Amino acid sequence: MQFYSTNNPDLKVDLKEAVIRSLPADNGLYMPETITPLPESFWKKWRSLSFADLGYEIASHFFQGSIPENDLKEIVSDAINFDAPIVPLTDQSFVLELFHGPTLAFKDFGARFMARLMAYLTKDDDQELTVLVATSGDTGGAVASAFHHVEGTKVIILYPKGGVSDLQEKQLTTLGANISALEVEGSFDDCQRMVKACFLDTELSKKHNLTSANSINISRLLPQSFYYFHAARQLLDRNENAQPTFVIPSGNFGNLTAGLFAQQMGLPIRQFVAATNLNDVVPRYLADGEYSPQPSIATISNAMDVGAPSNFARMQHIFGDDWESMRESVSGLAFDDDETRDAIKAVKELYGYTIDPHGAIGWLASQIWQEAVTDSHTIILETAHPSKFIDTMDEELGKGTTDIPERLACLAGLEKVAKTVKPDPQEVIDFLES
Ligand SMILES: *Cc1c(COP(=O)(O)O)cnc(C)c1O
Repeated sequence: MQFYSTNNPDLKVDLKEAVIRSLPADNGLYMPETITPLPESFWKKWRSLSFADLGYEIASHFFQGSIPENDLKEIVSDAINFDAPIVPLTDQSFVLELFHGPTLAFKDFGARFMARLMAYLTKDDDQELTVLVATSGDTGGAVASAFHHVEGTKVIILYPKGGVSDLQEKQLTTLGANISALEVEGSFDDCQRMVKACFLDTELSKKHNLTSANSINISRLLPQSFYYFHAARQLLDRNENAQPTFVIPSGNFGNLTAGLFAQQMGLPIRQFVAATNLNDVVPRYLADGEYSPQPSIATISNAMDVGAPSNFARMQHIFGDDWESMRESVSGLAFDDDETRDAIKAVKELYGYTIDPHGAIGWLASQIWQEAVTDSHTIILETAHPSKFIDTMDEELGKGTTDIPERLACLAGLEKVAKTVKPDPQEVIDFLES
C-alpha cells in the first residue's frame, strides 16, 4: 500500500515513511492511494466479530498486505482493548461513547494504534524511536498514555509551566518508565518552537530517530473508522432497517474523515452531519462554496477551536475537489456557547444523560437534522467524557453532579515528576543526549 501527498499525487511513499514522518516535505497530507469496498466475505461475518477482530479485518483490508496478518492482529487487539457502546436517547437518536479508553477521549483510539504501529515499523532500527511532543493539554496525555511501556519507544513531552490544568499535568508527569516530561518556563508557542528546532536539526533527528506523533498522522485516522462500523452494527441490532446518520462534533475533521474512509470501504451511511462551535469554516464552506480559514475563536468546546482544519484537504481529495458532491454527503451546522450550555442542561433534563460540551453541540445538530429528516436515525459521537470539562459541567448541572471516573480521579494523589527547563531548544538537546 502506498500513500500520496495531497499537494502532489505523484509523490508516493510506503507505509513506514508515511507513519514515521507524519507529514510529506511539501506540507500536504498523506492519503492512501486507494480505498476499496470490503469484500463479500467481510459482510458475511462483520456483525458477530469482537470489536478488536472487526478492527483487524478493516485494517487488514485497508493496508492491503503491508503488514503480516498475525502482527497486525496483535497491534489492533492491543490498541483496541476498550468498547465504544451506543446509548439510546430516543429510539431514533443515540450517543456513541468514545471515552472508554485510558485518557477518556476518542483520541485514545488513534494514539494507541499509532504507537503500536510505529514501534512495529521501527523494530529493526538500531536506535529506539523518540517521540517529541509539545502539548497545551489533551494531546500530550493521549500520546503519553499510548506509548507508555511500548517497547523500543520513548516519549518526551514539553508543556508550558502553569499552562495546563492540574489533572492534565498529572496525566503528563506521573506515568514514568519511557515517558518524560519537560516543564518549560514559557508558553505553548515556546514548546512548539523548541520541538521544531530539534526536528530541523537533521543530524540530531537521525541520531535519536525523532518522530512527532502528529495528530494528522494517517495511522491515527484508520482506527477511528473502526467505530463507525461498530456503531452501525449496534444500531442494526436494534433496528434491522436503520441506516445511520452520523453527527460529528468537529475541529480538525479527523473524525469525519475517518467516517468517510468507512463509507468508502462500503459501510452504508445515510448522511454525515458536521457539528461545530463558532469555528465554523466548514459549515460555511458547505453553505456557499467559499473556503476561508480564520484565526480560531476560544469556546467552551475548546478541542474544536480550530480556524483552519487540517483534514479539510483530505476531505477535498475524497470528493475530487467537488463542492456539490461533498454537500450531498456532508451537512454542516454551527452553534455558540450559550446554545451549548443550554443543550447540556436539556440533555440532562430530557434523558437523564450527562453529555460533554462537544457532544452537546452534536446533540443540537441532531435535533435540527431530525426536524428536517424525520425518519433519520442519528448517532452522535460523544468525543470525550464530561469529567474532562468539569468546570463547565459544574456550572450547568451543579457541583458534584458529574462523575469523575477512577482512572482520572486517582491521578490527583500521584506525584508529579518533571524537569523544569528554560524555553531554549538546547535544553531539549541536552536532555536527549543525557
Ligand atoms: C479532538 C477533539 C475533537 C475534534 O475532533 P477532530 O477529529 O479534530 O474533528 C472533538 N472533541 C474532543 C473532545 C476532542 O478531543
